[in-house]
Amino acid sequence: MSAIKANKIGDQKGAKASVLQALRLHGANSRAHLAKLTGLSKGGVSDTVAELLESGFIRETRALPSTGGRPGIAMELVPGSHVIFGAEYTNNEWSAAAFDLLGNELAAVRIPLSDESPEAAVAELAAVFRRLEQQYADRAVKLLGLGMPGLVDTERGVIQSAADIGWSDVPIGAMAKAMLGWPVVVLNRHRARGLAECRYGAGREMQQMVYVGVGTGIAAGLFHGRQLIPGMVGGAGEIGHITMEPHGDVCPCGNRGCLQLLSSGPAIVQEFERLSGVAADSPQQGLRGAGSPDASLPDAESICRAADLGDPVAKQAVLHAAEYLGIALASLVNLFNPQGLVLGGAIPAAGSLYASVAERVMRERAMAPLSQGTIVRTAQIGDIGGALGAANYALDKHMSLDILTRAG
Ligand SMILES: [Zn+2]
Repeated sequence: MSAIKANKIGDQKGAKASVLQALRLHGANSRAHLAKLTGLSKGGVSDTVAELLESGFIRETRALPSTGGRPGIAMELVPGSHVIFGAEYTNNEWSAAAFDLLGNELAAVRIPLSDESPEAAVAELAAVFRRLEQQYADRAVKLLGLGMPGLVDTERGVIQSAADIGWSDVPIGAMAKAMLGWPVVVLNRHRARGLAECRYGAGREMQQMVYVGVGTGIAAGLFHGRQLIPGMVGGAGEIGHITMEPHGDVCPCGNRGCLQLLSSGPAIVQEFERLSGVAADSPQQGLRGAGSPDASLPDAESICRAADLGDPVAKQAVLHAAEYLGIALASLVNLFNPQGLVLGGAIPAAGSLYASVAERVMRERAMAPLSQGTIVRTAQIGDIGGALGAANYALDKHMSLDILTRAG
C-alpha cells in the first residue's frame, strides 16, 4: 500500500468506522441509505465504500428492491471476516462463544464451574478464550464482552450485586482484563440477550425495542436505534425491582413488593405451592425472589408447561405471575412507546400461557393508542443470546477501524 493511500485512509478513519457500524447495526444497505444512516455525504460514502470493498471488509450483495428510484446494490459485511468474543454467566456455568460481525456463531463452549468464586470463574473463562484466540489467530478482535447476572456497573466493569450467585462489588472486567490482556466490557445478561434479539432475533426490524427477560430474576433492556440505552451506570431496565405491592415481602434488593417477587420463576413455584396447600413454613419458602437458587427454575418451567396442558393449579399460579408482569409491561409501553416488546428467558419459553396473559394485560392497561401499535413477541435466539449480545456490546463500546484492522 502506498504512503499516499495510507494517508488517505488515515483521513477517512471516522467515515469507515461509521459505515461499518451502520452495516453492523442495520444489516445490508445501499450507498444512498448508508449516507442517511451515517450522516456522510453521498460522495463521502461512495469513496469510503470503495476503499472498504478493496480492503475486503465489505462486499456487494443482491440488488435492493426499488423504492421509487433505481434499484441499487446493497453493501454488506463479509461473513467470517472478523471474530468477536462473548460469554454469559448463568446457572454456575459460562456459555462462551465466538461470532462473526454478522452474528453467525462460529464456536460455542459451555464451561461448568465446580468452584464458583469469581477468581476461579475468570481463570476458567480466560483459558477458553486464549484457545479461541489461537483458533482464529488471523481474524480475532481482541475484545471480550461479558453478560452477568445482577446489577452491573458497565462503566467500571463491576458487578455491584448479584444475589443469585452471592457476588457483590466484584470487578469482573478488571479481573478478566488482567488475565487476557484485552479490554473487557461487562453488562447485565438480560440486556445482553436483548441486544442479540434486537440485532439478530425477534426485534431485528425494530428501531425501538424493549426486551424483558424472566427467569430466576427479571430485568429489561431498552434499545433505541438498535443500540442499548445503558443509563448512567448500566442500570437502565431494572424493572424486576419496581414496586408492585407497597407492603409486600422484602426483596433481596432491600425494597418491598418488587415485581421479581411476583412474576419470576421462583414466584411461580411459590404461588403454586401456596395454592397446592404446601405449608407456608416449608423449606420451599426460600425459593422466593432473586435470592433463590437456579435449581428452582426447572420446577417453574414444569409448572408453565403444566399450565399450558390445563392443570388448574399450575394455570392459576402462572396467571397470577403473568398478570403482574402485564401491569409492568403496560408501564413500559406508556413510558417508552416501543415498536415492540420481546419476552425472553426461561419462563416465557417454557409455555405459551405466561406470555399470552402478560400481553393481554399489557393491552388492557397501557394507553390504547400506544398498546395497539406495539408488537409483542417471544425471544427467538436461545441461550447463546447472552454471549452474542455481550460480544456485540463490547465492539459497540470500542468500535473503530483500528481495532478491526489490528485483528489477527
Ligand atoms: Zn427488589
